[in-house]
Amino acid sequence: MTTRQAKLKKDFLEKYKDAKTELKYKNNYELLIDIILSAQCTDKRVNIITPKLFKKYPNTKKLAQANEEDVKDIIKTCSFFNNKAANIIKMAKTVEEKHNSKIPNNEKDLILLAGVGQKTAHVFLGEAYGENFMAVDTHVFRISKRLGFTKAKNVLNAEKDLVRVFKTDLNTLHQAFVLFGRYTCKAITPLCSECFVFNDCKSKDKIK
Ligand code: SF4
Repeated sequence: MTTRQAKLKKDFLEKYKDAKTELKYKNNYELLIDIILSAQCTDKRVNIITPKLFKKYPNTKKLAQANEEDVKDIIKTCSFFNNKAANIIKMAKTVEEKHNSKIPNNEKDLILLAGVGQKTAHVFLGEAYGENFMAVDTHVFRISKRLGFTKAKNVLNAEKDLVRVFKTDLNTLHQAFVLFGRYTCKAITPLCSECFVFNDCKSKDKIK
């Protein structure tokens, strides 16, 4: 890690030491569903949809028995709701059949669940258990390129670069980068004039 990268890591960890996901959840079941639904959808939208979903299906047992059309109807304002409805029901069935009604706590089992890829598993394990995992979504990808942490062309390679550079505190950095990308280093109009890493950013003059 370069001196500059170490300084940025320290700055982000200080500023976002209490960073938490903006998804609303009460347990690991709700958290995993939130994360699945949030793919290509906003956390705000997910938080609007899920109270009704969790009221009707409060656990994997209930969701495993759900009528797919009913679930679709509840989550229909979420992007890709057809696939997501099918996936969360399938996920619940697998958790019932193979995991004794408990959401798995390891990557190997998580990524075998419907709708759960590596990114979802990493976000889940980082949030639920504070495990040292990085996950790269659109915000993390954008700010990592702007701040020069990676030159990767895809999120998986970007994740490898971030893990290699930062090594520890990856779950906190992930959440910090998400919030920073969502509210400060925004895609179209980044708020450079109020950015706390302005002096360390080489992209600020290149973004129109
Ligand atoms: S100075 Fe602007 S482009 Fe650079 S990290 Fe901050 S908000 Fe993003």
